[in-house]
Amino acid sequence: MAKITLSNLRHSYNEAPTGPEDYALKSIDLDWDDGGAYALLGPSGCGKSTLLNIISGLLIPSEGRVLFDDRDVTDLPPDQRNIAQVFQFPVIYDTMTAFDNLAFPLRNRGVDEATVKRRVNEVAEMLELSDMLGNRASGLSPDNKQKISMGRGLVREDVNVVMFDEPLTVIDPHLKWKLRSKLKELHQKVRATMIYVTHDQTEALTFADQVVVMQDGEIVQIGTPVDLFDRPAHTFVGHFIGSPGMNVLACDVRDGRAFLDGEHVALEGPVTGGSEGLTQIGIRPEFVTIGPQGLAATVRKVSDIGRHNVIDLMLGGTRVRAISEGDAPDPGSQVFVSFRQDQTRLYRDGWISTTAGGQGA
Ligand code: ADP
Ligand code: MG
Repeated sequence: MAKITLSNLRHSYNEAPTGPEDYALKSIDLDWDDGGAYALLGPSGCGKSTLLNIISGLLIPSEGRVLFDDRDVTDLPPDQRNIAQVFQFPVIYDTMTAFDNLAFPLRNRGVDEATVKRRVNEVAEMLELSDMLGNRASGLSPDNKQKISMGRGLVREDVNVVMFDEPLTVIDPHLKWKLRSKLKELHQKVRATMIYVTHDQTEALTFADQVVVMQDGEIVQIGTPVDLFDRPAHTFVGHFIGSPGMNVLACDVRDGRAFLDGEHVALEGPVTGGSEGLTQIGIRPEFVTIGPQGLAATVRKVSDIGRHNVIDLMLGGTRVRAISEGDAPDPGSQVFVSFRQDQTRLYRDGWISTTAGGQGA
């Protein structure tokens, strides 16, 4: 196991990049602690696979270094990095049995047969593959093939890191949630550093202790699932995490006070910086309350999503969503909404720009 450091990393697939838009990774500085359970979360195309492939050595970065326990491995090929990588689609040998597929990474390194047998059986049990170990891989369902692929990533005990690149893409929905919690369990058992790449917030939040959120080749926030929900550092994180995501409402800032359509809105704490840039209020639907007073709004739509209702409102020209547990107002009705002050944040050009816990204005 090792700590993994990415230092000043940039990558362009273009041989002669001319500007930031030519970089798949713009500027990455990041430490992955030994034994951590990480998720790398972001929309398709933001650079997640590029980052993984640089850690595994499938790609050499255009700029910057990769260190394993302070040893520079930037130019080492994958087979000398002692890592395991599981891809989106199964990578297995169809003509081999499930057992031999799982045994392959161990036998390849000259591990003795007794240990091979023990490890393969352990991993097969964890992934519920035990009763098909004797079957040829070619006859297995896509789900089971992918489970074998994942097992191959988990079978070695001596790897620096196990990386999963959207491994549940081909898995049936009902098996998905099961495997998701299984992976979490596996991490607790093996304690290897794991990096789990996904564009799905539920997968990321279930698996990881620390979530690294990426957008457009950059890291926008690193935090626990609770951190990301509570205090999104960027409106992108607020949007991307939560369902529905955080309300982001264009506002004016004057003398450190925020105004929505001319109405004063109390913030969680003092505003940092002046009034320049694009200023927006961020408030999660969970903290928007419909009640006897507040800002006048019109109900557009009510969606019953099981445990609660999502209420779509128009506040002047701005759309706001509220989550409400109780009775929902009728569409078309006039109501008042208020924002819980300690959850009302100001963002400037996307980035958080209020200080929590202070006296709001
Ligand atoms: P993600 O895994 O988050 O979906 P990728 O790392 O695959 O994102 O891609 C990041 C960006 O790099 C995208 O714009 C993608 O089109 C581009 N890209 C990825 N692989 C290559 C490649 N082999 N050649 C050129 N561009 C690539
Ligand atoms: Mg990818």
